[in-house]
Amino acid sequence: MLERLNADEIESVLAHELGHFKHHHVIKRIALMFLMSFLGLALLGWLINQPWFYTGLGVTQASNYMALILFLLASPIFLFLLRPLMASYSRKNEFEADSYAATHASAKNLIEALVKLYRDNASTLTPDPLHSAFYDSHPPASIRISKLAAYAS
Ligand SMILES: [Zn+2]
Repeated sequence: MLERLNADEIESVLAHELGHFKHHHVIKRIALMFLMSFLGLALLGWLINQPWFYTGLGVTQASNYMALILFLLASPIFLFLLRPLMASYSRKNEFEADSYAATHASAKNLIEALVKLYRDNASTLTPDPLHSAFYDSHPPASIRISKLAAYAS
């Protein structure tokens, strides 16, 4: 990245990353993961004592080990439903970091850096909106750049 971007573009990218720091995104994410882990373990602790949890998944021998295995097998199905929420939260953080970069560095330079990075990564500039809303942790390039362009003008 240092070879591809000029000093002004690097400054804007750095300002974006500092925006994540300024808005405490990393600490908030760690706290959220801690909370979700706690809730997941509390749910597991409750499910261990529920006979329907074992019989519903076709198991007749209830045990702590079996509960853990069943929980690890079944939980991704339910966590999948949380994915759009997590992606939306992440995209919101990206917009906040972009806003910070636009006000403390240069939106124009960040746009130029993003275009180079998207080109180098061969990322699509026109992702499917539904797929993007469900999976993408970063906003689509066109939306991100148009918001930054509003700062630049
Ligand atoms: Zn970011």
